[in-house]
Amino acid sequence: METDDLIAQQADYLVNTYAAKLALVKGQGAYVWDNDGNKYLDFTSGISVCNLGHCHPAVTAAIQAQAETLVHVSNLFINEKQPQLAKALSQSAFNGQVFFANSGAEANEGLIKFARKWGSAQDKHEIICMRHSFHGRTIATLAATDKPAIRKGFGPMPKGFYFAALNDLESIDTLINEHTAAVLIEPIQCEGGLIPATEDFIKGLRELCDKYEILLLFDEVQTGIGRTGELFAYQYYNVIPDAMSLAKALANGFPMGAFVINPKWKEVLGPSSHATTFGGTPLACAAALAVLETIEQENILDNVKRMGKILYDELLTLSGKYDFIKEVRGVGMLRGIQLTDETIGSLVDKAQELGLLILTAADNVVRIYPPLTVTEDELFEGLELLDKALEGIA
Ligand code: PLP
Repeated sequence: METDDLIAQQADYLVNTYAAKLALVKGQGAYVWDNDGNKYLDFTSGISVCNLGHCHPAVTAAIQAQAETLVHVSNLFINEKQPQLAKALSQSAFNGQVFFANSGAEANEGLIKFARKWGSAQDKHEIICMRHSFHGRTIATLAATDKPAIRKGFGPMPKGFYFAALNDLESIDTLINEHTAAVLIEPIQCEGGLIPATEDFIKGLRELCDKYEILLLFDEVQTGIGRTGELFAYQYYNVIPDAMSLAKALANGFPMGAFVINPKWKEVLGPSSHATTFGGTPLACAAALAVLETIEQENILDNVKRMGKILYDELLTLSGKYDFIKEVRGVGMLRGIQLTDETIGSLVDKAQELGLLILTAADNVVRIYPPLTVTEDELFEGLELLDKALEGIA
């Protein structure tokens, strides 16, 4: 089909919530191709979803084999892939117990329900979130998201969500009261503009939560599955949460979410207290198992550390060259640059014109998310294109 026809059909038949214009038809590793045959280096990785690159052979093979065997049975039955994946996740995630969902927002809804159930006997239900947070687009996760613009028109929001400043323990302390159940935090705020929590803050927050006997919940939807150079950001900070949510890269593009509960709290959610039809299908679990195996077999985390350092150093060099780069932000391969003015849209457009896909975030930040499998040559190819794009908007 011609690209213009695709765009016209998109406009005619889809709910008008997205503004996409580029039609992609094929992906392989770090590259994607559009409907007209143009090739792009994809440094968006589907918003940190295809962390092993597009159509990684191990994940494709796992999906193909599982699609021929068993796709879905519901959670009324055990499927052999689900306990295997839960065990693999648990062994790298504080021996936690796993609930499988289908998206980041659904995983966070689960965290919120877990916290409320945990606190229900003592009427602890309030959740303290961070300013500039992003936790999803369902009603409860919107209430936990500090972006008034995307809440507009969807009120009233559920009650019980309060906002404190990231990296400011005092501002959290003042919000804690006898009804507080939990603090919910992205260890690195991604949509909010790639703002990492400091190590001291996260350590202090763990102590604060222990002192007041409230839960510490990590939203690792975007930070999880290797982007920081550790499998999960909690390992990067060396602070164990009471529960965390996952999604995005868990199955490298096959939709999947999960939340993992610290074994301390394994009695909180009992039979029938939470459920979902599609969570943890054999197909999704097979894809995620292949992801975890590949991360180990291909030493992906070492690559993130090496390439993340090169990416950081080279972005610093670019920030020396272009005075409208205000700051280089992020950790590992969760990287970005903050511009001094609101030209991030033009930078993304210019880069796309030159064959490089990158992403915007809040606070005038452009995110640069290569796949975690990126080679040094691909990384430098992307950086050269970024340099040209920056020159183009200078
Ligand atoms: N939490 C974080 C930190 C996210 O970055 C996102 C999505 O960008 C979500 C939650 C929501 O995930 P989903 O879009 O899969 O519902």
